[in-house]
Amino acid sequence: ANKAAVTVIGLGPMGQAMAGAYLDAGYEVTVWNRTAARAAALVARGALRAETVEEALAVNELVILSLTDYDAVYAILEPAAGALRGRVLVNLSSDTPERAREAAAWAAGHGAEHLTGGVQSPPSGIGSPESSTFYSGPKEVFEAHEAALKVLTGADYRGTDPGLAALYYQIQMDMFWTAMLSYLHATAVAAANGITAQEFLPYAQSTMASLPNFLAFYAPRIDAGNHEGDVDKLAMGVASVDHVLHTAEGSGVGTTLPAAVLEVFRRGMERGYGGDSFTRLLDVFREG
Ligand code: NDP
Repeated sequence: ANKAAVTVIGLGPMGQAMAGAYLDAGYEVTVWNRTAARAAALVARGALRAETVEEALAVNELVILSLTDYDAVYAILEPAAGALRGRVLVNLSSDTPERAREAAAWAAGHGAEHLTGGVQSPPSGIGSPESSTFYSGPKEVFEAHEAALKVLTGADYRGTDPGLAALYYQIQMDMFWTAMLSYLHATAVAAANGITAQEFLPYAQSTMASLPNFLAFYAPRIDAGNHEGDVDKLAMGVASVDHVLHTAEGSGVGTTLPAAVLEVFRRGMERGYGGDSFTRLLDVFREG
């Protein structure tokens, strides 16, 4: 029987980890990268280096794309579009849901299948089943290649819409970056007051660790449209954020971030939501 085989296009930190995971799993791995030198370590471990994109596409049905974004995907595949027929493109490059839908249609126009992926792991988590990747696209295509995809990370199939995996990825990132910046801002206020990041660490961790309970409490109420101010009131929230902003200001730390938060609360107050829960701010977001 032939060895399981896969092509990996794109050898940034992610693509290198992915090609390495396939080598470890005993796959025959063909790689291609714009900067060919990045393939050297993988070739030393047994990977085959394709000379051209066409060759990388021709040798294997399953093609993993790990590129900066979809502009890079097109830059690589458009000149080689004639070699796409019959290929399964697993696009693990990050971008928007809309761009993922366009790319799936573009691939279909060239006779290729497209699975969108959103990898929720740094390169160090590749090859580990505890890591997870969102997938979306044709279900039968996902199922046919599920075992191969699970060499990389756990696989969380979200549905047929090619935009879905990108959407799930982006809503996670929406939370991640805002939460991490909130941490950095608090760390700056702490530092301005002589508190080191290490000293702040257990308290920062404790605040972050309390969030899942809040989410579990509010999610069913949000779905039920229940924004009752029985446990928290927007008017209380706006005063609290105002104190945060002035504490930062008094510490000589920039207030751009708390000012943006305060602005959202203020808009809620202007609309007369002061007696409701802060979750009523969803209406402010919806209104744009
Ligand atoms: P990089 O941005 O380092 O990937 C770069 C790859 O894209 C390289 O192979 C590079 O080629 C290629 N590339 C970029 N632009 C072009 C172009 N115009 N033409 C041809 N090739 C191009 O990203 P990572 O490896 O870190 O990540 C890959 C994807 O995974 C990204 O979409 C990222 O958002 C996502 N991701 C990354 C995580 C991480 O922790 N790194 C975590 C989760 C997701 P060359 O080597 O020639 O420059």
